[in-house]
Amino acid sequence: MAAKRDYYEVLGVDKSADQEAIKKAYRKLAIKYHPDRNPGDKEAEEKFREATEAYEVLSDEKKRPIYDQYGFAGLDGAAGGGGAGYSHAFHDFSDLFGGAGGGFSDIFDSIFGGGFSGGSSSRSRRGPVSGASLRYDLHIKFKDAVYGTEADISFKHNEVCPSCNGSGGAAGSSRKTCPTCNGMGQVRQGNGFFSIQQTCPKCGGRGTVIDKPCATCRGSGLVEKSKTVSLKIPAGVDDGKRLVLRGLGDAGENGGPAGDLVVVLHVDSHPLFEREGSDLYCAVPISIAQAALGCEISISALDGKKIAIKIPEGTSSGKLLRIKGEGVPLSGSGRKGDLYVKVIVKTPSHLSSKQKELLKQYLELENPPKEAELINLSKLE
Ligand SMILES: [Zn+2]
Ligand SMILES: [Zn+2]
Repeated sequence: MAAKRDYYEVLGVDKSADQEAIKKAYRKLAIKYHPDRNPGDKEAEEKFREATEAYEVLSDEKKRPIYDQYGFAGLDGAAGGGGAGYSHAFHDFSDLFGGAGGGFSDIFDSIFGGGFSGGSSSRSRRGPVSGASLRYDLHIKFKDAVYGTEADISFKHNEVCPSCNGSGGAAGSSRKTCPTCNGMGQVRQGNGFFSIQQTCPKCGGRGTVIDKPCATCRGSGLVEKSKTVSLKIPAGVDDGKRLVLRGLGDAGENGGPAGDLVVVLHVDSHPLFEREGSDLYCAVPISIAQAALGCEISISALDGKKIAIKIPEGTSSGKLLRIKGEGVPLSGSGRKGDLYVKVIVKTPSHLSSKQKELLKQYLELENPPKEAELINLSKLE
């Protein structure tokens, strides 16, 4: 699994955030972490890149729903890969700063030019660095969302390497001054008008390199581990709900805290039931005679429980009957929503001669108008 932080989390906005809120959140981050204001700060660079990527997707009315539904996987290809995606973001970027950011894209290009690997490899290693939070998309059954369930989820995350305890060095190894930057942690790259201080690619800004890297983690201090945890899904969760498992994301580096595992729930549809908030909806067919005379029927609720329903005399097709307290549990309150049953009156299509005879007799008694009477559509139930 790619070690990537969830886009909503990156921008610090809610899943329901509107475009204005997303733009505002991005503007704040872009100003704070812009490379121009943080020369040579690898962590700021990474944060800026991450925020720009998140904004590029969440501000796009086509990409955002894809991301909401399928996560990062859905964006492979759709995002157009490195270069194209980011240059698009830069159209919006000059909008954000009212056109004042003339040189920004030049700087941006010179720093990030060839596209990003997007992994932890480019992160600063100077101080404690928080681990990335990971997103896990979990599909659950309609019924399980209503009544709650437990699910085992298996994922991969980075853990502190057990062989070197995160130092990245083999036993007996030592750190020596980085030959590329002479211990400065920074290298200078001239590019036309701008000269950019960049974090040293050899030592990642630390200024030192390990002479004998740890064989287990190849010097990174982290190893990828598969993990399975049992997740309790509470009753009444809805599509798009996020459950946060603290500390189960990637391990931090240099003693930084671990990220979280964010589980995004996707609720499957049900062939017979629909849901609106805490209310459930279903439909039940009855015959013309049952509708006219009234009757008692029995239906199976979502949990399989039999519920008796009294259909009143003279019920029209489309009528909604409310059954209190048979809907979705409201989290924490012990209360439940309601179940609405829509009555569908079915007109018989295959009648026996006896049934036809009786209906003909009924028709004579009914004495319907010869000329059809028009009815105001809005007055229909
Ligand atoms: Zn190691
Ligand atoms: Zn160096």
